[in-house]
Amino acid sequence: MQIEDNHVVRFHYSVTPVGEPEATESSFDGEPVAVLIGHGNIIPGLEQALKGRQVDDRFEVTVPAEQAYGERRADMSQRIPKKYFAAAATLRPGQQTQVSTRFGPRAVTVIKVGLTSVDVDLNHPLAGQSLHFDVQVVEVRGATDEEIAHRHVHGEGGHAHD
Ligand code: ZN
Repeated sequence: MQIEDNHVVRFHYSVTPVGEPEATESSFDGEPVAVLIGHGNIIPGLEQALKGRQVDDRFEVTVPAEQAYGERRADMSQRIPKKYFAAAATLRPGQQTQVSTRFGPRAVTVIKVGLTSVDVDLNHPLAGQSLHFDVQVVEVRGATDEEIAHRHVHGEGGHAHD
């Protein structure tokens, strides 16, 4: 079965930002991830590279920034009160952390720590970076109607509903 839209794919991956010495994330020593293809659940470049593959395929692909987390934007800094940070006292410039927003937790990079507020860069930490992936396809199956309606995977590696 070749991977296409509305298939559920379980796969192992490691990702290395181009120019970095080693992978920043890997699933190979843990559980594979499960993704519903065709619903924008992963970066476009990786989704595209998975299409047409099948079980046990192992491949490498380099995804340019615009097909990954986008280009880094210059106008994305913001001053945020310290109360929105879980560990404001330990923040240091350059550090990546999470801030609570009304859209949920968001990854940010600390620019400057003030007395009552923190200046952060809202660009995704991997914005502007080309990413090199090493991927191994573990399982491919058709999605259920319910998964397609919910636009995410149920069962192993996916969402659990009460
Ligand atoms: Zn669901």
